Amino acid sequence: MRRLESNKGSAPKKRSIFYLVPRMIVVGGFVAAIFITVVIKLENKPAKSKPLITTKTAALAATTKGPIEGDTQQINPEQLLPESGDNALLLANKILEALPPPTPDCQKEVCVALTFDDGPNPDSSNKIMDALENNFAHATFFEIGNKVAGNSAILQRMQQDGDDIGNHSWSHPSFLKLTSDQITQQVDRTQQAIAEAGVPLPHLFRPPYGDFLLAMQKDIKLAVILWNVDPKDWAYTDPAKIAKSVEKQIKPGAIIVMHDKPATAAAMDKILKDLKPRYRFVTVTELLNLQPTTKGVYIGR
Ligand code: ZN
Repeated sequence: MRRLESNKGSAPKKRSIFYLVPRMIVVGGFVAAIFITVVIKLENKPAKSKPLITTKTAALAATTKGPIEGDTQQINPEQLLPESGDNALLLANKILEALPPPTPDCQKEVCVALTFDDGPNPDSSNKIMDALENNFAHATFFEIGNKVAGNSAILQRMQQDGDDIGNHSWSHPSFLKLTSDQITQQVDRTQQAIAEAGVPLPHLFRPPYGDFLLAMQKDIKLAVILWNVDPKDWAYTDPAKIAKSVEKQIKPGAIIVMHDKPATAAAMDKILKDLKPRYRFVTVTELLNLQPTTKGVYIGR
């Protein structure tokens, strides 16, 4: 039995023309189809010199909030497209990623101002700024004067990123317990430290703990920025809880008080990603359309 099977397996095969021709046609068809597909792909490859796209066009594509004031400086897509084979959608995304967003208009857009108190902090300030930058968001940092020395680079980045830097007193006392002179000293000493860090003098002030009386304005001599949303980020060490609290309480035109600390920094990317379809994150100056000389007391828009 075994020998018979073995002989059968090695017997030479003879194929008739009726067996081979239909198979040759099928295989030939496949080869032709592949060839045609390759030719079509090559024909459709983008031309070597691509059209220039203006930043204004891309900026318009980046927002659904209507017309945008802005420059029309031209970008060469070649610079954004080093790899070959990128399609139009990828190109558009790359342009949008490379562009700063247009100037916010809080008359037309739903703006909110995130504020971070008690920095600068080497552990968290840069992480917050990374999240802001990655999400085209801006915010306001209220800094404690006696923490500024040695952290000039942090303040300089805030300024370069387009964030606001405000004054949060020299040593964070309750102003309710201070004399007029002491209040002025707390404010002025911090102004000086911030200027020494190489950034412009702040025009915004936030009183520690929100402890503030209208009579203090003559000693403070800056716009006083309180808040109307307090997610109590200081009470949480879990970034997920901070994100949940912010997302629950945020509202159009809000000034949101938060803190420059690690758990809050860790929550920022999620908060911004979740909320940016609905809100434009701007500085307090932008939210309230403040001039550097504007005084007054503000809690929101
Ligand atoms: Zn504070």
